[in-house]
Amino acid sequence: MTTETQPLLLAGKPVADAILAEVKHGIQDLLIKGHVAPPQLVVIVVGDDPASHVYTQRKAVVAQDVGMRSQRIALLASTTQEQLLHHIAALNADADVHGILIQLPLPNHINTHTVLAAVDPRKDVDGFHPQNLGKLLGAWDARQNPVALPCTPAGTMTLLNHYGIELAGKHAVVVGRSTIVGKPLAQLLLQANATVTVCHSQTVDVFAHTRQADIVCVAIGRPGWLTADAIQPGAVVIDIGINRLGDDHPTRAGKLAGDVDFDSVALKASAITPVPGGIGPLTIATLMQNTLKLFVS
Ligand code: NDP
Repeated sequence: MTTETQPLLLAGKPVADAILAEVKHGIQDLLIKGHVAPPQLVVIVVGDDPASHVYTQRKAVVAQDVGMRSQRIALLASTTQEQLLHHIAALNADADVHGILIQLPLPNHINTHTVLAAVDPRKDVDGFHPQNLGKLLGAWDARQNPVALPCTPAGTMTLLNHYGIELAGKHAVVVGRSTIVGKPLAQLLLQANATVTVCHSQTVDVFAHTRQADIVCVAIGRPGWLTADAIQPGAVVIDIGINRLGDDHPTRAGKLAGDVDFDSVALKASAITPVPGGIGPLTIATLMQNTLKLFVS
């Protein structure tokens, strides 16, 4: 069965642009009111992962576009955990640094939990410090949340809110349970009074769950994984995946694709995010929003 009308395209770019304009205006306002310098965001990337370098360069460019100061520290793959912790300690101690972002994934010889826990929670722009994740888990509602929420889940909620997608009482199925996307997103959906199911690689018959969902959010890193037969007619589909297609997709090799088979799912969904241009722009815009929030808090 297909929906008779075109689905609502949940484009992230215009929403992200509006957030960035607001952040830029907020920074200008602070400077007019007497702040001597704009917020400073520092991004640390370790190793040679090409995608990580592209993402961190993009974050630095956007930070400058909105009038922030930004620093990108690129460390060799051979950097030891101790050396990385030393960099973080110096940034924690620098009163002129307001946001610190550790680009993930880190090389295997570095313990991600130890590194994320070393960032000053007051400068934790990604909201991954255990203290901030704990606050998110303990919050009864949005007012008790930490200052900075994980960017991709928070950006997803902004998008849903912008397009007026009703969440209260709805059944949301989140596929993927990473600490950076699936788990915090499930928590934010719960706060919005959705009934939430979280699926992962050990879930038996994932599609039996997605077929019951009013809202399906997919973040697993498998191109085109969610197909039309895995949703119910009229579902809202949020594609968080960003995958660079390889040579096994001869006509689209090198292009970006989400975790959702857009062409088939769009015929059945009531609303759907595109990839690229959906959640991705909101992740970066939320990062800028978080940096400004930490600066003023
Ligand atoms: P992870 O690899 O950390 O987590 C993937 C999750 O998907 C795991 O929980 C895993 O289960 C689950 N999973 C994998 N295969 C299946 C399957 N066949 N069925 C059900 N669950 C499955 O990935 P991330 O959360 O970091 O990223 C997920 C995707 O989101 C990627 O494509 C990434 O590029 C994208 N992403 C996009 C962002 C954006 O700005 N739009 C930002 C961050 C990520 P288990 O826990 O059991 O292993």
